[in-house]
Amino acid sequence: ELLELYFVEQTANIAQPAIPKELTFDEDELDKAINDDQFVLYYQPKVLLKSGRMVSVEALARWHHPEIGVVNPVHFIPMMESSGLIAPMTIKMIDLALDQVRLWCEQGRNIAVGVNLSAAILSNTDLPDMLIQKTRDLNIPPELLTLEITESSLIQNAALSLETLARFKLHGFSLSIDDFGTGYSSMQQLNRIPFSELKIDRSFVSNACHDKTHKAIVEANISLAHNLNMQTVAEGVETVEDWQLLHELNCDLAQGYFIAKPMPAEALSQWEQEWLT
Ligand code: C2E
Ligand code: CA
Ligand code: CA
Ligand code: CA
Repeated sequence: ELLELYFVEQTANIAQPAIPKELTFDEDELDKAINDDQFVLYYQPKVLLKSGRMVSVEALARWHHPEIGVVNPVHFIPMMESSGLIAPMTIKMIDLALDQVRLWCEQGRNIAVGVNLSAAILSNTDLPDMLIQKTRDLNIPPELLTLEITESSLIQNAALSLETLARFKLHGFSLSIDDFGTGYSSMQQLNRIPFSELKIDRSFVSNACHDKTHKAIVEANISLAHNLNMQTVAEGVETVEDWQLLHELNCDLAQGYFIAKPMPAEALSQWEQEWLT
């Protein structure tokens, strides 16, 4: 009585076996995998709609599972969040991302990296000082680290989160509000927190070409962001029609399968060559 199997998305270079969507892992397995450095980062480009140039990337966690292969975050982030493993995991991911930024700096490239922060870690008010130390040690300008935070995560632990975010901002890190419009207090969050980037959720972007309401929402989000001096990123840009519409609507950056899927850092330069020619 095997349940229906779902397929996880295909990643850039590595063929994946089918993974049942319900597949979950226990705390001990995840803890061990963190300590064994089995979690890696894939990078997905964010490109300027005006020129196509890549100015930043989003870092997305992948588990290189010794038996299963590449496992996507939906199978492990929820358990990490409920068990407290998300904190050590996030620190490791930030270290990997900063090492990559350092490498790009050495190659003469200023590429900003966006890392995803879960709600649980925002109540850790030591995090800003830790990140300042890390970027100083590596001689990385703080504006090359963008912290992507979903509005739903801000609702939990609002007071501590606010303090943490204010400190990040004070030290020059960029703040990005992720999945914008999917929570119920988006406007309040914009009012309280100095974000520099607004990511329009994929659910609005992917329907905007065919649905007047979604198009109006995308348009309104872009003008709201621009009035508040924020850059806009459209997530989930999957077709040339999506791209053209966002270009017309004056969106700043695009991210999605039309441009590139998340991939290992080593694959980015070849992608970039092909993308730009
Ligand atoms: P997110 O932050 O909204 O990340 C964007 C997700 O959309 C990624 O899924 C990405 O692969 C996918 N995506 C990008 N372009 C397209 C597109 O054109 N079409 C479609 N259908 N999907 C697209 P992914 O990598 O599976 O990550 C899922 C979520 O897991 C992320 O959503 C983020 O909330 C979380 N996550 C990933 N890495 C980390 C991490 O290191 N720490 C934490 N706390 N959360 C993470
Ligand atoms: Ca994100
Ligand atoms: Ca998002
Ligand atoms: Ca999302």
